[in-house]
Amino acid sequence: MSEASRSQRLFFALWPDAGERRQLAALLPVLAQGGGRPVPADNLHLTLAFLGQVTPAQRQCMEAWADTLNPPPLELILDRLEHWPGPRIAWLGPSAWPEALDVLAASLAEGMRQCGLQPDTRPYTPHVTLLRKAPGLPAVPTGLPVPWRTRSFVLCESRSDGDGVVYRVLRRWDA
Ligand code: ATP
Ligand code: MG
Repeated sequence: MSEASRSQRLFFALWPDAGERRQLAALLPVLAQGGGRPVPADNLHLTLAFLGQVTPAQRQCMEAWADTLNPPPLELILDRLEHWPGPRIAWLGPSAWPEALDVLAASLAEGMRQCGLQPDTRPYTPHVTLLRKAPGLPAVPTGLPVPWRTRSFVLCESRSDGDGVVYRVLRRWDA
């Protein structure tokens, strides 16, 4: 197989555990009442670094880089509901967050440069996408804020199947 055919679309993320995922998923039906397509509950996540399409060598390089990072304990309070008109998504994120989260995202971005990948140049805004094709800011549902404590991050593969995108956790780094 050629390098190109073995390439994968990857990203690093914080991955909610079952309880947090349930709390986030519970918001979806109410949010979607104003229009938009809820993200499937199994797909809910917070991206740390989007790698895009990478070769096996680049994946190995990024995994080796991640091995050198200590996953920080993070306590997030997801209390900020926003709508981005450009990508037409509605998302939930923290209005303030620990510096350790910025440090982790920046460390992964630095790893991308070291591994020959181009990180996103926009300022890092931690968010969990809840609705796609969202026409505007949804009404604030009950069930906010959602607290999220984590001591790990994951590497995920993104694949599109017939009717949407499917994510698979490839590896987890625990504190
Ligand atoms: P789809 O693109 O099919 O609508 P998706 O955006 O959920 O689905 P991916 O495009 O594979 O799936 O993206 C995986 C994750 O990386 C998502 O959280 C997405 O928001 C984020 N992401 C995608 N592209 C970028 C980018 N250029 N910069 C930063 N983050 C990105
Ligand atoms: Mg996308």
